[in-house]
Amino acid sequence: MATYDLLVVGGGVQGLWVARCAVLAGLKVALMEAEHCGAGASGGLLGALMPHVATGWSEKKQFQFAALVGLEAQTQLLQDETGLDSGYARCGRVMPIRAKGFLDQFESRRIATWQHWRAPSQRFELSLLETDAFRAWLAPEAAGLGVFWDPLAARIDPQRYIAALKASIVERCDVLEGCRFAGFDAATGQVSCESGGGDILAGAVVLAAGYETFGLTQAMTGLNLGRGIKGQAVVLAAKMPVERPIIFDDGMYIVAHTPTLCAVGSTTENDWTDPRSTDDGMAAKLEQARRLCPPLRNAEVMASWAGVRPQSAARDPIAGQLLDDAPVYIAGGGFKITLAIAHLVADRLIDGIVQNRAPTGLPASFAPDVHVAAAQKKLDSPVTAEIA
Ligand SMILES: Cc1cc2nc3c(=O)[nH]c(=O)nc-3n(C[C@H](O)[C@H](O)[C@H](O)COP(=O)(O)OP(=O)(O)OC[C@H]3O[C@@H](n4cnc5c(N)ncnc54)[C@H](O)[C@@H]3O)c2cc1C
Repeated sequence: MATYDLLVVGGGVQGLWVARCAVLAGLKVALMEAEHCGAGASGGLLGALMPHVATGWSEKKQFQFAALVGLEAQTQLLQDETGLDSGYARCGRVMPIRAKGFLDQFESRRIATWQHWRAPSQRFELSLLETDAFRAWLAPEAAGLGVFWDPLAARIDPQRYIAALKASIVERCDVLEGCRFAGFDAATGQVSCESGGGDILAGAVVLAAGYETFGLTQAMTGLNLGRGIKGQAVVLAAKMPVERPIIFDDGMYIVAHTPTLCAVGSTTENDWTDPRSTDDGMAAKLEQARRLCPPLRNAEVMASWAGVRPQSAARDPIAGQLLDDAPVYIAGGGFKITLAIAHLVADRLIDGIVQNRAPTGLPASFAPDVHVAAAQKKLDSPVTAEIA
């Protein structure tokens, strides 16, 4: 019988960070992963770390800002410990402006960044650049009215990041790959698995199984807290200039991770059956990318990838204790921002678990109670009842 203080379910970026923070806090930890670390959404190609728009500032935006600023030091620590580079770089982001309405928003957005994008020793401000500011990278004709420059955005190579995170914990906790978690008996601490695992007892469980967390929480609460939304991305080989910030345009990202490899993504697919299959769904985004970015015009597609993002029904990430009467916690639902915030979510969650109190320093909208109440309300609404 293997006994742990904490069992973490899921070897994506969120689960790996929870396990890392837990071992650093001195807990005896196992991480259970159904396939292999990075098998889910975290093992993708894109890795854009983008701030929220700074107007309408909120607790959630402040949290994400702190996470974005703090990630640079965290990836440096990971590299120092493991010798593995996560491919992190604060490369900034450019957004071509074609519509006057977009240009009209510039001043209010700039002021908001000046007010809110501040850390103790760093400050970031949105600025407006000439159409040809990055002419070798962003086609001037695609940015007729100029270019927004966001110096805060960064990139990370998801697969290298996962490898570094795994390497940072593998000798300090049990990483049980090929074990699918099925349930937890809070009264006895007994963990049950669909496959692999053996006899395991845990003092507490953190569910960080990406979109599959929602099936697990549905079994525990009877409520639907979220769903999976599929996405596809591709990577192209091209010769690129030294300065190559993320290009963001109309929902499309171009993220050049090395001088010769560039990711483009991603699709949003609500209806899907196979979480991993790729098809020609990326064709339109690829065409858009080639139009915007001259080095990609004749670039060859080297790989295609698909994954499923976890999206909570209440839209915000979920982090905290799921059940009042049992040591079952949840960390996930971050949809398109988890790569940027996972480390801070994990830090706050583990601090709460170790101190035996509700986590502090997380936005109120992340609390499982809020998500449970929203799901309950939906279930109780006459419209939902009628459809059901
Ligand atoms: C196409 C695409 C592009 C994206 N681009 C970006 C981006 O640019 N920037 C960004 O921040 N985010 C991006 N995302 C979103 C980001 O990838 C996810 O939000 C994030 O990876 C979720 O991490 P996670 O650890 O919660 O889940 P996952 O990475 O999905 O990890 C969950 C893990 O749990 C395992 N698991 C599931 N069930 C069980 C079980 N019962 N027992 C044990 N293990 C289990 C799975 O095998 C998986 O490895 C993108 C997603 C997609 C699909």
